[in-house]
Amino acid sequence: MLYREGPDGEKLSAIGFGCMRLPQKAGLIDEKEAIREIHHAIEKGINYFDTAVPYHLGASEPFLGRALAGGLREKVNIATKLPHWAVKSRDDMDAILERQLANLRTDRIDYYLLHSIAADSWAKLKNLGVKDFLKDAKRCGKIRHYGFSYHGDKRSFKEILDDFDWEFCQLQYNYIDADSQAGTEGIEYAGRKGIPVIVMEPLHGGILAKKLPKDVTDIFDSAPVKRTPAEWSFRWILNRPEIAVVLSGMNSIEQIDENTATASDALPNAMSEEELAVIEAVKQKYAEKIKISCTGCRYCMPCPFHVNIPECFAAYNNYHMFNRNFTNKLQYLGRMGGVLSDRSFAGMCRKCGKCKKACPQGIDIPKELAKVSSEMEGPTFKVQIFLMKLAMPLQAKLAMLGRKRK
Ligand code: SF4
Ligand code: SF4
Repeated sequence: MLYREGPDGEKLSAIGFGCMRLPQKAGLIDEKEAIREIHHAIEKGINYFDTAVPYHLGASEPFLGRALAGGLREKVNIATKLPHWAVKSRDDMDAILERQLANLRTDRIDYYLLHSIAADSWAKLKNLGVKDFLKDAKRCGKIRHYGFSYHGDKRSFKEILDDFDWEFCQLQYNYIDADSQAGTEGIEYAGRKGIPVIVMEPLHGGILAKKLPKDVTDIFDSAPVKRTPAEWSFRWILNRPEIAVVLSGMNSIEQIDENTATASDALPNAMSEEELAVIEAVKQKYAEKIKISCTGCRYCMPCPFHVNIPECFAAYNNYHMFNRNFTNKLQYLGRMGGVLSDRSFAGMCRKCGKCKKACPQGIDIPKELAKVSSEMEGPTFKVQIFLMKLAMPLQAKLAMLGRKRK
């Protein structure tokens, strides 16, 4: 295992263990198997474990606490997150952190993140005193480093990054998402500020590792070096020097072995021109499946009715690139629906036409947004948002009660 530098030069394993897709049995975490995998990952050198209140409906944090009992906790770093949607006061922040410490059976969280913040949730948290909360928690040793995870656009990412003395940040990044969300531009911006980046969704929800279109597997099969699609993805990300850790939601011993083997020699800037060309060819193949030729330039923004036009188009294109995958729809619901990010879905378009004149690609934006709305939202979208919003604080409350699912 290679180790990269986190905040204060701490050595973090290049691959981190994401605890949101643990093995399951009858809808619950398969505790025996999941513990076996966590222990195996530690033996293989992984020292960064990432969890959060909503993962496994509140069961992930208490599970990780149990899995690291018996002294293992001292060998690893624990990352977890403040669920901003459950926070209405400064007292809530303190109470949630106390419960998380109890859930995780520890006296400190090594890496504490504000979970999936966006411009509006960051503004809300600031008003409630989150900066003091993070500083105070660090001062008294309850957290060691603070950061945030993020799924919004590039501009808000830079604004949030510039607005506090963050020690690290966590971004979605993979070769398909290089230009969406904060993307490569955001990663380079963080790198220039000396802020280590943790990467999430390296396989775009697993889609880049399985059920690939045949024309894509053909490219990998004809590459000069033989690698699995997952290995190609991890190596491409680890090629960037700004990246400290790539999180992987591993749920088998084989995946742990494959990923840790990759991380044992994937140095920054190690990929050859020939290897990078393979990824470019795959990207190109996916790009051919794109429905709307939006480049993400943002000349059409801001929309007076708060539609995030480029992100709506990116989500729609992703949905079609990956054979109408359900995960893409769920991500759209969470992010564009305003559950995890600012509310900015295509159906909010009032057809005022302001954006249309600004688009250098000549896209009929209101017309395309209507298609996005029809396919990604449908008539029950607002009900789905309501239900998801209802579920999120419930999960937080369950975690607050320290529910054990054993
Ligand atoms: S046409 Fe729709 S997306 Fe474009 S600016 Fe008006 S409301 Fe916003
Ligand atoms: S102006 Fe056109 S190409 Fe640029 S982000 Fe908007 S829709 Fe996309």
